[in-house]
Amino acid sequence: MEKNIFFIEGELVGVLTTEPINRFLDYYAPIGGVSVGDFVEVNLGPRKVIGCVWSKGSGEYDSAKIKQINRVLDITPMKQEMRSFLCRVSNYTLSPLSGMLRLALRGNSLLYKPATRKVHFLSKDYKLKFVRKTVLRLQVVNYLKQQLGKSFSLKELILFTGVSRSVIKGLIDNQVLVEKTIFVDLSFPKFTIGPTRKKLSAEQLLIAKKLKLTVKNKIYTTTLLKGVTGSGKTEVYLEAVAECLNNGDQVLVLLPEIALTSTFIDRVEERFDSRPAEWHSGISKTEKNRCWKMVASGNAKLVVGARSALYLPFKNLKLIVVDEEHDSSYKQEDGILYNARDMAVLRASLNSASVILASATPSLETWVNANDGKYNRLDLTHRYGASELPKISFIDMREDALPSNKWISQKLIDAMNLNLDKGEQSLLFINRRGYAPVTMCKVCGFQVGCEKCDARMVLHNFKNKLMCHQCGESKDLVKLCPKCEASDSFDAIGPGIERLAEETSAIFPKARLAILSSDLVNTSKSVKKLIDNIINGSVDIIVGTQLVAKGHNFPLLSLVGVIDADLGLQGGDLRAAERTFQLIKQVSGRAGRANKKGLALLQTYQPDHPVMTAILTGDEEKFWSSEATQRKLAGVPPFGRMAGIVVSGADLSQVNTIATQLAIKCEPLKKINALVYGPADAPISRIRGRHRIRLLVKAAKVKDFQKALTMWIDQIKLPGNVRLTVDIDPQTFF
Ligand code: ADP
Ligand code: ZN
Ligand code: ZN
Repeated sequence: MEKNIFFIEGELVGVLTTEPINRFLDYYAPIGGVSVGDFVEVNLGPRKVIGCVWSKGSGEYDSAKIKQINRVLDITPMKQEMRSFLCRVSNYTLSPLSGMLRLALRGNSLLYKPATRKVHFLSKDYKLKFVRKTVLRLQVVNYLKQQLGKSFSLKELILFTGVSRSVIKGLIDNQVLVEKTIFVDLSFPKFTIGPTRKKLSAEQLLIAKKLKLTVKNKIYTTTLLKGVTGSGKTEVYLEAVAECLNNGDQVLVLLPEIALTSTFIDRVEERFDSRPAEWHSGISKTEKNRCWKMVASGNAKLVVGARSALYLPFKNLKLIVVDEEHDSSYKQEDGILYNARDMAVLRASLNSASVILASATPSLETWVNANDGKYNRLDLTHRYGASELPKISFIDMREDALPSNKWISQKLIDAMNLNLDKGEQSLLFINRRGYAPVTMCKVCGFQVGCEKCDARMVLHNFKNKLMCHQCGESKDLVKLCPKCEASDSFDAIGPGIERLAEETSAIFPKARLAILSSDLVNTSKSVKKLIDNIINGSVDIIVGTQLVAKGHNFPLLSLVGVIDADLGLQGGDLRAAERTFQLIKQVSGRAGRANKKGLALLQTYQPDHPVMTAILTGDEEKFWSSEATQRKLAGVPPFGRMAGIVVSGADLSQVNTIATQLAIKCEPLKKINALVYGPADAPISRIRGRHRIRLLVKAAKVKDFQKALTMWIDQIKLPGNVRLTVDIDPQTFF
């Protein structure tokens, strides 16, 4: 049991509030006292705010001005391990602790009144009150007599007895029926945790057994579960989930994309007969409140969610699964910048819990950690059942001179035709939303850009708009070029998914097409519907973006064509090779399930690039170790520490001044031998009208990295309209 530090009435306590004040505030304990971890309401100036009792009061404030805590809220106090977790994340990401508290309380409006409903039952002395006995009234009373003390909502009573609302109201008025308000934050249903009904292969069984053991030990471990696409990673880690549930402990499964939750939930239901609790942006506020409370009370045993589910108040969390752990969407890119995969490992280490990182194409960081023995590694090397991994080959686009407005090579068209004849599905993949990335005036070369961002506007034909992918701004297509005033002179340059779909339906007019792109299907349900259509065979050709690359199983799909395999290699970022490798592997892996042999054709202009060679030869370990060597040479994560600092504001010269001051005053960083690069324009130099200047800090793997950064940044006083964000372990290295 955790030690509960208790303060009696009148003692000074330190309270952390959700207000953006980066320190603890002193209050007097209320009548009845408080404990560390209790959620409280306090007065702050004229307002009432929510806080959490964190420690003994500092005594540094004027005692005459200190107020008493208004009240202790009736919700489960924050546990010690959660407080440690929030502190650690705050220190790691250099984000204020108050922001962490807001994260931990998200979805739980603490002043919210629990959901209630009215129920009705027979009063104990109803015989005395039951004077006016009509046929209809008798019907209700007799029904309730048979139900032996059960209670019903008004709706149910009307439904079950066939009487009208007024009959029941009359009985309530006469006190024959009692009306009572009850709380209805329902617990989540229990799971059936028997053995799996699926027959696991020998390899699956072995890995499942090992995973179960790590869970059973109830000590912190992280395991990389690396399995080729279709090897049954989910089946296998569900066995570890079963073990944990069987012990009465809680499990969190993180998925990178809401679109994947529906399928996952179905699989949980298939395995355990009940559905898990959900936590992501797609669920209602009421459901979030229910989830938060049930997680805290231990009545939600299995939660499937997005990265913010890490901050739920678990009572006894013993297993965290991070599925598709390599996915870049685990990195939160606004507000508090953290990587949910790394924070999952941190959280588990504070809870003596296990982590399973599942992927067919792990992140380089995880691969290195497994290689160094920091993480366990378990491999599923075969696809489940008769299905085989797809054959992969290249189409050298240098040999295939396509006209400038066509993107599908003849070789790919031939292969697709063959597939159509066989009645099998094909997938065309392109990692670009919209119709065309560039809209340019044929006469003067003017390109339509966003007025607020350093980005070109992307033509979206379905919406008939030009859109900015940075800020979401959209505008109508104009007839006249604003620069040279030529009329109808705009031309779409380059391919996007909509354009590819257009070309596809022109080449295969009879084929049934499904287009999967995050801006065309935006709810988990609509994605699920499209996916179901693909699975049940009412689609011949799928044209998709990243959305299809992730985790789905398409049993009828036997051909994957990657339109622009080189796309991700441009730009020269150190992660480019890793990203491209993962993406192509993932997309190709969609081909060839069940008994269909799969083929992946990659259109490329650089068939000799190391990434392409690695994909072709299938020698992954060689690829990872060569990538690791390059990172080591460059001294970047996971072999060194990095932080990206972005200074932003509407006034460019002001932003420049601050960034230059930072670069000059780098004394604290010199103490840890860190190097400062920049200031330079951030990769996107303007977003929503704010200029962005970036500095990069690089250091060896020193302990005091964050401390030095803080000392460095604290030297600069920021004007109110200039913002500074720190991104530890940034996703881009330039
Ligand atoms: P991965 O996540 O490794 O791609 P999944 O766990 O999604 O693999 O499994 C791929 C497909 O194979 C799923 O449809 C799954 O139901 C099926 N499958 C895997 N293992 C088994 C098994 N032992 N018995 C029956 N079906 C299985
Ligand atoms: Zn023009
Ligand atoms: Zn914009």
